[in-house]
Amino acid sequence: MEIRSHDILLVGGGGAGLRAAIAAAEVNPKLSIAVVSKVYPMRSHTVSAEGGAAGVAKPDDSLDEHAYDTISGGDWMCDQDAVEAFVKEAPQELLRLERWGCPWNREPDGHIAVRAFGGMKKKRTWFAADKTGFHMLHTLFQTSLKYQPITRYDEWFVTKLLVDDGRVQGVVAIDVMSGKIQAITAKAVIVCTGGCGRIFPFTTNANIKNGDGMALVQRAGTPLKDMEFLQYHPTGLPFTGILITEAARAEGGYMINKDGYRYLQDYNLGTPQAKPVLRSMELGPRDRLSQAFVKEDQKGRTVKTEYGSVVHLDLRHLGEKLINAKLPFVRELCMKYENIDPVNELIPVRPVVHYMMGGVSTDINGATSLGGLFAAGEVACVSINGANRLGSNSLTECLVFGARAGRAAAEFAVGQKMPNGRVLAQATDEQKRLEQQYLHKSGGQERIATLRDEMQKAVESGAGIYREQSTLSQAGNKLRELQERYANISLDDHSQTFNTELTSALELGYMLDVAQSIVECALHRTESRGAHQRTDFPERDDQRFLAHSLVRRNSDGSLKVDYLPVKITRWPPGERVYGQEEKPKDGIKQAG
Ligand SMILES: Cc1cc2nc3c(=O)[nH]c(=O)nc-3n(C[C@H](O)[C@H](O)[C@H](O)COP(=O)(O)OP(=O)(O)OC[C@H]3O[C@@H](n4cnc5c(N)ncnc54)[C@H](O)[C@@H]3O)c2cc1C
Repeated sequence: MEIRSHDILLVGGGGAGLRAAIAAAEVNPKLSIAVVSKVYPMRSHTVSAEGGAAGVAKPDDSLDEHAYDTISGGDWMCDQDAVEAFVKEAPQELLRLERWGCPWNREPDGHIAVRAFGGMKKKRTWFAADKTGFHMLHTLFQTSLKYQPITRYDEWFVTKLLVDDGRVQGVVAIDVMSGKIQAITAKAVIVCTGGCGRIFPFTTNANIKNGDGMALVQRAGTPLKDMEFLQYHPTGLPFTGILITEAARAEGGYMINKDGYRYLQDYNLGTPQAKPVLRSMELGPRDRLSQAFVKEDQKGRTVKTEYGSVVHLDLRHLGEKLINAKLPFVRELCMKYENIDPVNELIPVRPVVHYMMGGVSTDINGATSLGGLFAAGEVACVSINGANRLGSNSLTECLVFGARAGRAAAEFAVGQKMPNGRVLAQATDEQKRLEQQYLHKSGGQERIATLRDEMQKAVESGAGIYREQSTLSQAGNKLRELQERYANISLDDHSQTFNTELTSALELGYMLDVAQSIVECALHRTESRGAHQRTDFPERDDQRFLAHSLVRRNSDGSLKVDYLPVKITRWPPGERVYGQEEKPKDGIKQAG
């Protein structure tokens, strides 16, 4: 087996991975850095982000207000020290990105333009039309090319973390083009593999978002945090699940039911008559809007279509000029995928799985409990998103915590010894496992697509927008059955080059592990908070559950859930109020 060695290894070439690689290279130009990505980096899911990235930009806004919106939006599950660091470093990171070439939209007087976003009570979302992720990822990718010490392994698929002597020492990966299985050793590894939306049947997430990093880290003995908190976005196009960005509502779009009525005023989310800055309504947080859809559906006030019930997003009153200037991609998506023009037609939408608040448990510098192992971006739970992420915090999170993890890994790597021979033996074992379990095996009875389909149905019916003991238990039983049947798959394709059947099989294995963690954490949390709504326990229970879930995988495959207190610094738990005036306390100094 061929072995390569670097000081720091990034798994993932999306927003978080590239930001971390640049930060590590800046801290110590002598370090050799590898970026391993299962797709060409520009195809990472970050490229599809539309609406924008949050960071205080205007004099009428403050870091405290950004912190408070994030914490109350997260239903007090956010670690407040992490949120304070996040809001403080956010504007600096966004400005840095501009200096690297990111074309943020500007006001006519040259100032950065910011738009409103759900759950944010001030305008603080920086944007580049409605293709923000595309521009951010290009900027990061181009900037990364300037750094000689960064070596890329494009289209290499990681199958295992190598752990020995209490620390991570590299990975095993398949070079997808040649099919070769190789070891890459390193003194520190940063996992930036993104989210896991593909566990569900209806999602905005790209096909590559399978929870790989979450499963790899959990298999290496490190816990995942808050996996029960999974975000539905209220406006996905029926059938495809393609996202219609929150920016459409930020620019003034209405959500209406089958009677043309703006139904959100009935759900404690503000009223159309309230002062504009306080008029949440369509700009309420995503958990509340998705839950309101279910209630509206139960009342029979949605529109029935062949792809399920929908409500409508109405942009007609915004006019063609504004739509073309600020929402060109929304118009393009509607025309291409629904054959409708939002300038004069209603857009059918329904809630769609979008984002994972939970993930690899890390501290404020991206460090996990395993020596040398770091995580950042959507795969990680630091935790600034708590029980419900506010839109546009995630892209900025990739920058702030990607940079922090890169710097921390660079410091850790200095002085560490190069990996030892035992690690190489582990890598050879992994090669044998891949050959025996997949490449050389035939005669298995189970099909990848069938198991995936059954898994998606099980999690959707068991752990969707509303959950309860019986549906969760059923989903848990089904997933255990699917894990057993997974051992009985075999591949039709035994070739080496671009064997996507092999990578699909491995991705299904990751998804099954992550799905089990979601269901197990949801079963244990007998309260309702943010995106986790239990019909059998409808109240929030701070006494018992103002705590993060930590889920570990035992050697026999069973899961164990523990709890870790939430870090509260200055904002004691309160009620989540939208559409009414609230005043957060003063505190954090405005950056620069
Ligand atoms: C349609 C859409 C729109 C969004 N819009 C916004 C928005 O406007 N604002 C906002 O803040 N957030 C938005 N989000 C969320 C945000 O874009 C993501 O959370 C964020 O971009 C994730 O970045 P990341 O770097 O963590 O992961 P990703 O960009 O998903 O990158 C993951 C990387 O990991 C690699 N990888 C994964 N598994 C493996 C493996 N086994 N081996 C090797 N490499 C691997 C992949 O190749 C990829 O390079 C949106 C999300 C979606 C889906």
